[in-house]
Amino acid sequence: MTFVRVALDVPVDTLYDYRADRLKNAGPGRIVLVPFGKKIVVGVVVEAADTSLVASTRLRQAIASLDEFPPLPGDVLELLKFSSAYYHHAIGAVVMNALPTRLRRRNALKIERGVYRLTALGTNVRPAELPARSAARRAVLENLALHPDGLGASQLAGNPAATVVALRNLVKAGWVEMISARPDGGSPRPPQVLPGPTLTDAQQTAVVEIRGTFDRFAPWLLHGVTGSGKTEVYLELIATALTQHRQTLFLVPEINLTPQLETRIHARFPDTPIVRLNSGLNEGERLHGWLAAQAGHAGIVLGTRLAVFTPMPRLGLIIVDEEHDSSFKQAEGLRYSARDIALLRAKQRAVPIILGSATPSLETYHQVQRGRYRMLTLAQRANAAIPVIQTTDISGETLLDGISQATLKAIRETSKRGEQSLIYINRRGYAPVLICPGCGWTSGCPRCSVKLVVHLKSHQMRCHHCGHQEAIPANCTQCGNAELAPLGQGTQRVESALARIFPSARILRVDRDSTRRKNAWGEMRRQIHAQEVDILVGTQMLAKGHDFPALTLVCVINADASLYSTDYRASERLFANLMQVAGRAGRADLPGRVLVQTEFPAHPLYLALQRQDYAAFANEVLAERKQAGLPPYSYQAILRAEASRQDVAIEFLERAAACVDTAHSKVSIFDPVPANMSRLAGKERAQLTVQSGSRAALQRFLSTWAGQLDKLAERKVRWALDIDPQEP
Ligand code: ADP
Ligand code: ZN
Ligand code: ZN
Repeated sequence: MTFVRVALDVPVDTLYDYRADRLKNAGPGRIVLVPFGKKIVVGVVVEAADTSLVASTRLRQAIASLDEFPPLPGDVLELLKFSSAYYHHAIGAVVMNALPTRLRRRNALKIERGVYRLTALGTNVRPAELPARSAARRAVLENLALHPDGLGASQLAGNPAATVVALRNLVKAGWVEMISARPDGGSPRPPQVLPGPTLTDAQQTAVVEIRGTFDRFAPWLLHGVTGSGKTEVYLELIATALTQHRQTLFLVPEINLTPQLETRIHARFPDTPIVRLNSGLNEGERLHGWLAAQAGHAGIVLGTRLAVFTPMPRLGLIIVDEEHDSSFKQAEGLRYSARDIALLRAKQRAVPIILGSATPSLETYHQVQRGRYRMLTLAQRANAAIPVIQTTDISGETLLDGISQATLKAIRETSKRGEQSLIYINRRGYAPVLICPGCGWTSGCPRCSVKLVVHLKSHQMRCHHCGHQEAIPANCTQCGNAELAPLGQGTQRVESALARIFPSARILRVDRDSTRRKNAWGEMRRQIHAQEVDILVGTQMLAKGHDFPALTLVCVINADASLYSTDYRASERLFANLMQVAGRAGRADLPGRVLVQTEFPAHPLYLALQRQDYAAFANEVLAERKQAGLPPYSYQAILRAEASRQDVAIEFLERAAACVDTAHSKVSIFDPVPANMSRLAGKERAQLTVQSGSRAALQRFLSTWAGQLDKLAERKVRWALDIDPQEP
């Protein structure tokens, strides 16, 4: 008798044993239907075995294997098993989460059965000449003709049932074939590669060096400011991979970055199927992309962090662009770092991996210093001058809604030249808090330990963490004072101040509020490009990856706030942030200028920033970290707890700290403390940090520890382990 051990989407860290007698295919990675309680659910076989520890009379039969879907390949299963063990997250949840949603739901599977495309015979059929009663078949043929790399059944328009029948008939007739079930039929055609610009010497060196490691695992840091031509280096190496008939996994941090990048990649490799994988896709698109990647049809997989687990049989190159970006780390559920998993994957598959950044994470830079990764530097911008970065001292100055005179002067001069300015402030809304000057009352969120942000445009106060909103009160709820004052600046306030100061300027605010409407951001981009805007006011959204040729001035308001942060990573983030926003200034033939308002112009961070000297900054911060024994000189995990009361959460953490003897384990346990945001959406939160100089020692400790936490939590506390935490 054979058994299968199956991963199911349940939060228990175990595999479930089933008898496999009825399964046609029972190998690891197979997607199967099994009974679970009173339901039938989808699962993935993780192991096949000849024996089971569960008495065979108690074991249930697995119902069927879904053989129309290829099994998860062994390397991806290994990666998932590793992730479950390393991040201490239930194996079933890890494995099932890596599958496209559509594959996880049994009902949805009936419609979607793989990816279809026209056969050579099918391309010669003229759909219009089919009889009128074959409308469904006609529609399918027309649709597939537009998508040479294939479409999933759910993406074909029309009545799903009729589409499925039509597809079946077309396959029978030999006009259409299903491509996802078989890997890579036929001999590969050489991909079409259009020429890019002539590479600079630095780019050429980078390409040659990395290309020299295509046959093995090699971690590379490609260090270069925005506009230094990193993407051209990637494209050149993707071309090499494609020519060798190998796939590239290209990870990027943000969803809104992918369309432009995809256009650029497509322009270079017009006949290479590119699969986009990010959370903005619908289920059908995601399944289609995933299957195309797994079948080896997609030459390039371009995606956000979740794409790191995509099966890719011909993987030849991994790129992690903006590798320092915190969005590569998932903040809940499986709290994985897609960058770290990507490194592991490159090692497992013996392929090179390029980590690209203007401001590498200190973890990565430290690995370069230790000789583990090799660094290649692009010091100049490829087709523009490096912008000038200056600070302007605002100590002692009375600011106008947060804006200094020097900033106003710079904006005025820029507008006069017919160029665009960007005022960068990383806070949306009008003001971060409403205050009563009479009694000191402030607008706290009733459910969180943060202030409600004033949104003057909608006459509301909103919590940016839990979504709570209420009307702006006319009087202080505590003392009745009618003179309530918004304190501090947000994008809306800066926008209205500028409108007052520059009445004839065309001002555009870009933040999550102003871009909420569908396509709003697309339209704004068009306006900026068409120079229908003089002054932009924007948040982080504008700092990333957008190329506006007429934008020559960037003014940063309120950067100092990060200098006071209790998070030891805040300065690393601030530096990365400012370098990134500086990259928006002056890309084409116009020189750019960046002006940072600060009360501390002599702060080492600003001095390094003005020289755009990443190495100086990184070395200084690394020295501090070494002194303090912080990462990357140590490894951390945070046990996060959530309960109805703060003392309940803290008590749990105290019990957790006491339940193990760390005397000989090389692990230190810190005191439990309330979380940075101690109250979120009505839940009290606390945390406990454990730290070790040895990753292995920390992992050994966590393995025994994690097993005891559920018992200690007594259902009163929700807990989670955050390994290599990025947030305080
Ligand atoms: P990064 O990815 O580092 O921000 P890009 O690769 O996007 O830089 O390059 C910035 C700009 O310079 C792009 O418009 C790109 O087309 C152009 N560029 C890059 N390399 C070259 C080159 N060798 N010659 C001319 N233009 C280049
Ligand atoms: Zn009051
Ligand atoms: Zn709230």
